[in-house]
Amino acid sequence: MDNATRLQYLQAMGIDVWVSRTSSQPVVYEPLPETKLSTDNIIPEPALINTQNNWTALETEVADCTKCSLCKTRTQTIFGTGNKTAEWMIIGEAPGQSEDEQGKPFVGKAGQLLTEMLRAVGLDRDDVFITNILKCRPPGNRDPKPEEAESCGHYLRQQRDLIQPKIILAVGRIAAQTLLNTDAPLAKLRGKVHTLDGVPLVVVYHPAYLLRSLIEKRKAWQDLQLALKTIKETKG
Ligand code: URA
Repeated sequence: MDNATRLQYLQAMGIDVWVSRTSSQPVVYEPLPETKLSTDNIIPEPALINTQNNWTALETEVADCTKCSLCKTRTQTIFGTGNKTAEWMIIGEAPGQSEDEQGKPFVGKAGQLLTEMLRAVGLDRDDVFITNILKCRPPGNRDPKPEEAESCGHYLRQQRDLIQPKIILAVGRIAAQTLLNTDAPLAKLRGKVHTLDGVPLVVVYHPAYLLRSLIEKRKAWQDLQLALKTIKETKG
C-alpha cells in the first residue's frame, strides 16, 4: 500500500497522523523496541517443550487435514501467524486468494489495512496471533459453510487454549457470528464486550468491508479503542 493511501485510510479512521518536515513518510505510532534477553544458555522448561510439541502437532494436523472438501481446492492450509503467547488473538473469516497462495492470513489488500489498523493501536503483526475461522480458502471466496466452520472449530479452540489470549478480536460479521454462535447483525455485535469461554471478545469491522466503505472507518477505530480499553482493564 502506498503512503498516500495509507495516510488516507488512517485519517478517515480519525487517527492522528503527522508528517515529519524532513520526510514525506507519514509518522504513526511506532512501538518501542523490546529488550532482547540472550537465550543462548537457557535450557527450556519441560512445560515449554510440551507446549512447543503441542504447537508442532497441531500445525501438522492442520496441514494434513482432509475433514472437509476444502482440502481438494486449497493450495495449502493457512494455520495462522504471529506470537504464540500473544495477548491479542485476531480471528478473521477465511483465507482469500493471496492467503491461499502465500500460506499466511491477512496478506492481501484487506490484510494490509488490518496491519495498519493494528499499528494504529501500537501493535505489530508479530505482537499478535492472527488466524481465521477456516484454515482453507473457500473456492471463489464464498462464505464458509456451517459444517466447514464446525470442522475447523476444533483447531481454533486448540490454538486459543495454547495461546491463552487476554482478548479476542473477531474480524467481520462471519467471524463474529460464528464465534458467538449467533445470527445477529454486525451492527448489533460491535460496540460491546462479549465473552468467549471466559476471554473478552470485541467485534471489529472487516477491513475488506472498510475498503469499500470509507465512512465506516471511524467506527473501526472505535472498535479498536474498545478492545484496547478492555485489555487495559483486564490487566488492572
Ligand atoms: N479475510 C479474512 O477474513 N481472512 C484472511 O486471512 C484474509 C481476508
